[in-house]
This record gives sequence, C-alpha cells and structure tokens, in this order.
Amino acid sequence: MSAVDNRNKKVALITGITGQDGSYLAELLIAKGYTVHGVVRRTSSLERSRLRGLYEDDAIYGKSLFLHYADLEDITTLRRIIAKVEPAEIYHLAGQSHVGLSFEIPETTCELTAMATLRLLEVLRDLPHSPRLLHASSSEVFGAPREFPQTEETLMNPVTPYGCAKAFATQMVRIYRSNFEIYCLNAISYNHESPRRGENFVSRKICKAVAEISLGLRKRLTLGNLSACRDWSDARDVVHGYYLALQNDTPQDYVFCSGVLHSVQDMVEIAFQAVNLDASAHVEIDEKFLRVTDPSRLLGDPTKAMTLLGWKPRYSFRDTILSMVASELELAKK
Ligand code: NAP
Repeated sequence: MSAVDNRNKKVALITGITGQDGSYLAELLIAKGYTVHGVVRRTSSLERSRLRGLYEDDAIYGKSLFLHYADLEDITTLRRIIAKVEPAEIYHLAGQSHVGLSFEIPETTCELTAMATLRLLEVLRDLPHSPRLLHASSSEVFGAPREFPQTEETLMNPVTPYGCAKAFATQMVRIYRSNFEIYCLNAISYNHESPRRGENFVSRKICKAVAEISLGLRKRLTLGNLSACRDWSDARDVVHGYYLALQNDTPQDYVFCSGVLHSVQDMVEIAFQAVNLDASAHVEIDEKFLRVTDPSRLLGDPTKAMTLLGWKPRYSFRDTILSMVASELELAKK
C-alpha cells in the first residue's frame, strides 16, 4: 500500500517522540484517531517520562502507539521503519535542540540537525509516493535578522551552530519541495515552553527553582541576562500548529510564535508571583550564564499560520508559566 493510500488510515511517524513537542504531538494525534509510530534511540534506561501517560496505558501502547528503535544517524534503520510503517505523515522533530550547547558540540549538532534531515529527505525522494514531512525548524535560522518581525519570507542569517544547522535543513526542505515534488514543509517555531521542557532550558530552570524555593528546599535562583527577550509560545499550541500545517493540501512553510516579546525578568516575576514570593529577594546574577551570542531581535509574525491554517494559540505567556510552576510544585512535593 502506498503512503498516498495510507492517508485515510491516519498513520503518523514522529521522530523525537520522547521530547517535549513529540510527546504532546503523540497525545494530540492519538486523540484524533491516528496510529502513531515513534522513533526512539536506545539508552540504558527505559524511562521515557514524557510519554509515561501513553506508554503505561494498555489501551494505547501497542494499539495506537508503537515505538521503534533508531538513532538519527542510522538512516538504514529509519528507512526500514518508514517502509514497514508506511506513514502518511512524518513529523521530524528529533535533533540536538539546545542552542547554547551547540557551541560545545557543533559537529554533533550539525550531524543530528542538518545531515539527518537531509538523509530523511533522501529516503523520501526514493519512495514512489512519499509521505508528507514536517521539519521542526526554528527562529534561530534568522539569527541576526534584517527585518522585524520575521515572516516565512525573511532571509536566514544564523549566528549559532544550532541556527546554522537548522538553516541548512530548512533550505534543503525547500529545495526538495521545489525540485522533487516532495510534500515537505518547515514549521519555523519560536521558543515554546511547557511543563515538559528540558531541565536545561531557562524557563524550566526558573519554574523549578521557584517551586523549590517556595517549599524551602533551596534559597536562590541564579540566572544570566534578565533583560534577554524572547517570543515565547506554549508547546501545546505549537504542536497543534504542526498538525494543522500537514493537513493543508499545499506544502508551505509557517512561522509559529506569539508575536510578542517577553523578558526573562517577566518570566521570573510571574513565576514568583505564583507562589506569593518577592523575586528580588531570591534572584542572583552570574555572568557565566550569559550567552556567547544572544539573538535579541527574534520576534515572529504568526499571521500566515493564523489566517491560512486557522491556528489560534490557547495559552498566554502567563498561562504557560503558571502551568509550569504548578507542575514543578507537584514534582518537588513528590
Ligand atoms: P527536545 O525536548 O530536546 O526533544 C528532542 C528529541 O530528539 C528527543 O526525543 C530526543 O530523544 C530526540 N533525539 C535527540 N538526538 C537524537 C538521536 N541522535 N537520535 C534519535 N532521536 C534523537 O526538543 P523539543 O523542544 O521537543 O523540540 C522539538 C524540535 O523542535 C527540535 O528539533 C527543536 O530543535 C525544534 N525547536 C524547538 C523549539 C522549542 O522552543 N522547544 C523552538 C524551535 C525549534 P531523547 O529523549 O532520547 O533525548
């Protein structure tokens, strides 16, 4: 059966299913009646905390959710999984997702983020009826942008190894779309957070520390640049955008963002207010947390996704931070 025939069967493959976005997307697709296949890399632990709700549900795991072992660098296995599963839609979310860390491991970042995406496109190129592919691109492709706010048309000008790797993958998606008639698109998302954000990201770090300070488990929160600004969204909204993007019959790139800038200071204040504490009494600054290059002008324009896809974020910045603090309080109490 070809992937074209498979479209009515709602079969999706997610790379990066154990990540923040992948886990929310899996939940969303299963709720929509999809059979979801996830690619996981082998580690020494079977602990997949973000997937626990699905993984431990006998009505779901092995019925509408299946996991397959493959590393992004193992394209032969990925090819085999795609041939076996015959997905109608592939959500390619896996990669080295930490911008700061990309300065420490630039080669790994490029291998996993740039080259793995190209190899996946090559697999699809060889299929008679390739599935639809969404590539999780990033606002970091704009780096030091020449226009403000950025749209799908803004020229890429990355300033970090991560941004550069994403820019390569983003452009390859465009090249394969126009040259090989593959249905593939870029979801160019700006920072998005949730209770499932990795612990080495500033939002999670802030909310975790605030919860622990409020419970008397620690005293201080140490941060770098409080005035750094980002266009933050909620991961649950962004993955809904991923889904909508792949339903459109014409493959196009979309920017997913809030269109509003908030500072780290704003985030800190909301988080401390949630537990009725004064932020200034607990926050200290340490220059070692300052970024080598801090992209200060990244603000997106979500108009295209909103008008063409009907994408409408449900979580405000405050909602997201409050939900993260609440989740950290639960975790800390345990
Ligand atoms: P995440 O939580 O860091 O998840 C990354 C996923 O990639 C995890 O499932 C991870 O598996 C998997 N992965 C990493 N290396 C792999 C490898 N060698 N082989 C197979 N799988 C591998 O990231 P996220 O926040 O969900 O983001 C999803 C995608 O969107 C990423 O590509 C990210 O760069 C992009 N993006 C995210 C944001 C954001 O603000 N969150 C913004 C723009 C773009 P393990 O669980 O085994 O580590």
